[in-house]
Amino acid sequence: MEEPRVSNEKWEESGWIGFDWDGTLVRYTGWVGPEHHGPPIPDMWRRLRNYLSQGYGVRIVTARVGPGNPDAEVCWHSIRAELCRHLGDEVGTTIPVTCQKDFSMIYMYDDRVRQVVPNTGEVIEELVQELKHYRNLVADLESEAETLDESINGIFEED
Ligand SMILES: [Mg+2]
Repeated sequence: MEEPRVSNEKWEESGWIGFDWDGTLVRYTGWVGPEHHGPPIPDMWRRLRNYLSQGYGVRIVTARVGPGNPDAEVCWHSIRAELCRHLGDEVGTTIPVTCQKDFSMIYMYDDRVRQVVPNTGEVIEELVQELKHYRNLVADLESEAETLDESINGIFEED
């Protein structure tokens, strides 16, 4: 399916793509403090930059700035500073840092999310596991068939 395209000027109206922070854009191995950030995960920053260069709206979506965190404001400033460090001030300051989805969210990258097939109750990760299981079954059967073939050929060669 083709991804919806939005222009730089219109993206606030057209929609945005969310990126989680910990475990998605930066490595996370446990809470250290509101101003501590794990090392960047290059593939994910490349993806984010790619969306920006194509004119997509991008937001950071993280519980760090959620109402449950008393250090939310410190976290917000700290993530903003990291965004400026990675993307430059001009771009970094334009990327919203939020804890909320809204109706304009196109989709979101997050290490804790389990994606579902829309309107089915099916979970993609479980479907992939099932697919792998059946692929292994097929490989086992093919290998058994090969062994049988060799055995049969062996019998005829002996004659
Ligand atoms: Mg995360």
